[in-house]
Amino acid sequence: MKIEKAKSDKIDDEKLWPYVHKVLEILGHPESLVTDESKIFDFTFSEPEKAKEISKKLGFEVKQSDYVVDVAEKLRFSGVPMIRCGGCGLNIPQAQIAFHKCNEE
Ligand SMILES: [Zn+2]
Repeated sequence: MKIEKAKSDKIDDEKLWPYVHKVLEILGHPESLVTDESKIFDFTFSEPEKAKEISKKLGFEVKQSDYVVDVAEKLRFSGVPMIRCGGCGLNIPQAQIAFHKCNEE
């Protein structure tokens, strides 16, 4: 069995935290611990209806396969068109993509 430390670089961004919390609240699991790898599916299991319900509450489409951290990011910039950076995989507001620099190791 392989054990890996769950990635939590994105989710640990404290500016993102209020939005992560909001998403968890809507999912009905405000006390849950999440990592970058946590997906909506982990909370809704096989209830596609629940994803629709969440989409309605958030005002944009949420899929079962979406990462919680991505949904939180979307919520943070909701109403703003987002572009996914091909380099780091972060969702960046369209207007800021020109100024975005990927974190280099
Ligand atoms: Zn990037």
